[in-house]
Amino acid sequence: MNITFYGVRGSTPCPCAGNRRYGGNTACVVLESPGCDPIALDLGTGLRFWGETLPLDGTFRGYALVTHLHWDHVQGLPFFTPVHMPGSRFDIFGPVQDDGMQMDEAFEEFMRPPYFPIGIADLAGDIELHSITDGDHVVGDAKVRVRNVPHIGPTVGFRIELDGHTIVYVSDHQQPLDGGMDIAPQVLELCDGADLLIHDAQFTPEEFIVKAHWGHCTVDYALHVAAEAGVRRLALFHHDPSHDDGCVDRLLSETRDKAATTCIEEVIAASEGLTLHYEHASATA
Ligand SMILES: [Zn+2]
Ligand SMILES: [Zn+2]
Repeated sequence: MNITFYGVRGSTPCPCAGNRRYGGNTACVVLESPGCDPIALDLGTGLRFWGETLPLDGTFRGYALVTHLHWDHVQGLPFFTPVHMPGSRFDIFGPVQDDGMQMDEAFEEFMRPPYFPIGIADLAGDIELHSITDGDHVVGDAKVRVRNVPHIGPTVGFRIELDGHTIVYVSDHQQPLDGGMDIAPQVLELCDGADLLIHDAQFTPEEFIVKAHWGHCTVDYALHVAAEAGVRRLALFHHDPSHDDGCVDRLLSETRDKAATTCIEEVIAASEGLTLHYEHASATA
């Protein structure tokens, strides 16, 4: 299985010279395994770059798991070329809103004139929007566990078992407002023993003090979640738009030092274009 990061930023796209190495596109990670339809995690602006690698003959089949509906997680959909190709099919799963609004209603609401020139129904491909609830599901060839994650508005995290490996995606995670280190039990359960945890790493401690209520956490909190859950590899993700390459390098280096005393085998900082390879492993081995 290959796991490729096409967008690693939180909040807003931020391409500039200072962010060149880590990248400026918002959340989009793709899981691809031979013989399986691919699964995208979130539909941020990075999605467009994945689309450029795909066939344009209408044979595309794939899935997306969407954590929540903030712009940085959905904005890439209409720029994903396969959705414009007759014959393609994209099944997109995401949470129900507090007022009961389902995924198809939500996308019809924000993707329409005057905010955008066309609506979902105008896309030539077959785009199916599904609401997904807390629980265990099958998506394509993967087993997917969904749990609610503290953030702003209905937000979920995903635990994906594919090819004998467990990948957990918690892109946006509200740390306790007082800067405490408590972790919601359902998040710990989601992350338990994962091979790879892709986790919100938006703030430094100083930034968290002034932006505590913005729905995110410190890099230290990401490390704490990974250590408490017994995760093998942690990918710092959802980098703050104001963090240039040097800043992310520093945060990564500090986090690696702190991780040395934990069970975590490796800490990386997700960067645009990075592919992690996991050899096929029997789930029963
Ligand atoms: Zn976000
Ligand atoms: Zn968000």
